[in-house]
Amino acid sequence: MVTTILDCYTDEPSGLGVPPYLGTYPRYIAGSLNEPVNYITVDDLRLWKKHGGSIKTVKPSMKTDPSTYNLSIHAPELPNILQQTDHLIVVLGVHVPGKYLSAIPGTLNEVIPMIRDLHCKKTLTGPAVHGTQLFGGKKQEKADLSCFNNVDPHLYKFKFDDVKEFAIAGASLIKQIPDPRMIEIETGRGCDIGKCSFCTEPLKSKVEFREKGDILQEMKTFYDLGARFFRLGKQTCFYTVPNVKDLLRESWQRCPDMNVLHIDNVNPVKVVLDKDRSITEAVVKYCTSGNIAAFGVESFDIEVVRQNTLNSMPQIAYEAVKILNKYGAERGSNGMPKFLPGINILFGLRGESKKTYEENMKWLQRIYDEGLMLRRINIRQVALFEGTSLHDEGGDMLHKNRKYYWKWRNDIRQQIDHPMLQRICPTGTLLKDCYAEVYDGNTTFCRQFGTYPLIVGVKGRLELKKFYDLSITKHMLRSLTGEVNG
Ligand code: SF4
Repeated sequence: MVTTILDCYTDEPSGLGVPPYLGTYPRYIAGSLNEPVNYITVDDLRLWKKHGGSIKTVKPSMKTDPSTYNLSIHAPELPNILQQTDHLIVVLGVHVPGKYLSAIPGTLNEVIPMIRDLHCKKTLTGPAVHGTQLFGGKKQEKADLSCFNNVDPHLYKFKFDDVKEFAIAGASLIKQIPDPRMIEIETGRGCDIGKCSFCTEPLKSKVEFREKGDILQEMKTFYDLGARFFRLGKQTCFYTVPNVKDLLRESWQRCPDMNVLHIDNVNPVKVVLDKDRSITEAVVKYCTSGNIAAFGVESFDIEVVRQNTLNSMPQIAYEAVKILNKYGAERGSNGMPKFLPGINILFGLRGESKKTYEENMKWLQRIYDEGLMLRRINIRQVALFEGTSLHDEGGDMLHKNRKYYWKWRNDIRQQIDHPMLQRICPTGTLLKDCYAEVYDGNTTFCRQFGTYPLIVGVKGRLELKKFYDLSITKHMLRSLTGEVNG
């Protein structure tokens, strides 16, 4: 029996599996099968189904094609792999659609026609079993799933008792990927305080955490296989993870030459509740620079916070921003501040009005005026998923307020993001180890490995998939331009 895992990439609020990240699902599934498995990507499939198997050379006027950028080692022989496959497991599901520099996640409507005719058993798993979101859309993607023999939510929701073994057994899957990957490490599931009206996390998982020793063992296994970029990113709040300071410290004992150790989601309430600031200090001390705690603030309007039972009041979010700045603003060895907050803002929640816009601007402006730094403001329109109170009980303001969103977003970009970027990365800053990822005409776009790294455009065509130290020359709205140092 030959099993092949088709990775169409996943993006959820707590867990990223879009290249250069390697998500947990294909790894755990590979580990759960007591046999060697093939790992292929949606890019491999596109290369053959849409381009006949040949990679186009990028002419000087052209962009790198992100739809076929992330090939596995099986790309040259994909038709053979598919022909030998008895069971195709499709991992798919984007819940937080974004624009990715060098990857395009596969949607059901794209992938189904490409696999329909394959003569093998087909299983669909991943967040898609709860519905997936089309790019920029707010509705779940509807698709005819009849080509799948099986739609299996269990394959992507292994119990942590099983993950202990599967995570380690599945790590060798990385050998089937030729390019470096940021390994997304899971620490926990569920949310211990949140009842946010839009969120599927409490529906998907009860609160539980992995054992520290299991996490470390998984990291060590990847490390021994050559992985050097890690994010402890798959959880709803990093500060809630038990023994988190020991986890960070012991990571370095097991993996002494990591290039990157970052985190992701943090609940601002927990930052404030960490009274002696020892977790914040540990994150600054043990993680590599350019690290970000993404705060799910969603709104600074108290009325919206109340009506959607969001987790933090504006004052708390502000205090958490201040704390992280106090401990993490110092510039680290890769040129970026060591540890900064990021803020997620959601449009379309219950109770949203023009006052929401004013409150958001007021608090963001205050943060800027007080000399604080926010590394990233992520603005999205809320997605309505079945089972959430916003979907089932209604009250979303998407239709009513849509006409304002462009302006609301643009004002944040112009008035806050842009000056903030100048503060975070002033002209002349040297950003080390930026990975040349894609071309657009005569520009090469590069970024560091990490959690939400800044994109730097460099004039000319640098050799791709190599690392460069870049000196920052100019600021665009949300990205930078730079030149190779030396
Ligand atoms: S705090 Fe809210 S948005 Fe975050 S995981 Fe919990 S319920 Fe979801």
